[in-house]
Amino acid sequence: MFVAIMLRSAEITATITQAAKEAGFDLVGVAPAEDAPELEYFPRWIAEGHGGEMKYLEARDEQGRLKRASLAHAAPWARSIVVCAINYNAAQPYSTQATGDSKQERGWISRYAWGPQDYHDAVMLRLRQVEAAVREACGTDDLVTRCYVDTGPIVERVAAKYAGIGWIGKNTCIINQKVGSWIFLGVMLTSLDLQADLEPGLPAPDRCGSCTRCIDACPTDALIAPYQLDSNKCISYLTIEKRGAIPDELRSGMGRHIFGCDICQDVCPWNRKAPAANAAEFQPRPELVNPALDWLAEISAEEFRRTFRGSPVRRAKRAGLRRNAVIAMGNSGERNFLPLLDRLAADEDEVVRGSAEWAVKKLNSAG
Ligand code: SF4
Ligand code: SF4
Repeated sequence: MFVAIMLRSAEITATITQAAKEAGFDLVGVAPAEDAPELEYFPRWIAEGHGGEMKYLEARDEQGRLKRASLAHAAPWARSIVVCAINYNAAQPYSTQATGDSKQERGWISRYAWGPQDYHDAVMLRLRQVEAAVREACGTDDLVTRCYVDTGPIVERVAAKYAGIGWIGKNTCIINQKVGSWIFLGVMLTSLDLQADLEPGLPAPDRCGSCTRCIDACPTDALIAPYQLDSNKCISYLTIEKRGAIPDELRSGMGRHIFGCDICQDVCPWNRKAPAANAAEFQPRPELVNPALDWLAEISAEEFRRTFRGSPVRRAKRAGLRRNAVIAMGNSGERNFLPLLDRLAADEDEVVRGSAEWAVKKLNSAG
């Protein structure tokens, strides 16, 4: 009986590996659905306010427990977590590399948001293929599966670590030795007990060593300690999730970032030779790589809708993107922006107005 179960587990794991490959994932692994030690830090991280305004991270169950802090509470039926990863890197320079004379007039949209489709949808479609293959292979209605891309009661990178996808770097990203850290994760919780077939040697060993490049390069000191991020200071959070005005003391550190930030990944040695992705959904739209700041600062509601339909950039909303572009103009040192900023200092949006006043002052004081 034991041998039969072992074989079954091995067969299913082989099905998962094959299905993930056919769905276009670069990496796949299985982790036990257990509460890893890394999750013990999560409630404290939330309690200390490091999640900022991201209230979805604080989702709680009926007993008031944080859903993401314990899979045993959030999904007690789950036995294994299938973690799939797909490379989204593009053959384009990093934000930390010079892009020519016009760099100061250009903003930066995070690498993951250059493609024509929201990665949540693109990854979920592929994950559903893996789910369908597993369900077919198991041939039983008793099997429970749930697929998530960023939205589940689970800290995906912790599951990824225990599935052998990579280690959690000091920049808090999952890093794979061969692919680097430009990867999207999709997870499938399953009631299948696949532990018998887990590879020895998991979790993936930490290969950061004595390196601190990411911590040293972060312009806003958001990496408050190795492996610890304060979202309130992180440019990614500020440009995407933060509504309203950006705190004055963080504006200069935002540099030219208008959606997300890649710096702590750009400087990571494990991304030096990161391969470019093949998937059509992740091929960059040229207008989103080093986009013109004046274009985005004045983008109309209609153009915003048209340009970012189906794009993760929508999350920042038009008001946030305009605010960020205005701050980036203030940080640019380009006095050519002053006439536009003077106009924006009378904008109908209060936050854009306040940001433009700050940007004008900053450019004038620099000149
Ligand atoms: S994404 Fe940018 S701001 Fe956030 S930790 Fe990394 S370097 Fe710092
Ligand atoms: S930059 Fe260095 S310390 Fe930071 S994640 Fe990469 S290897 Fe680790």
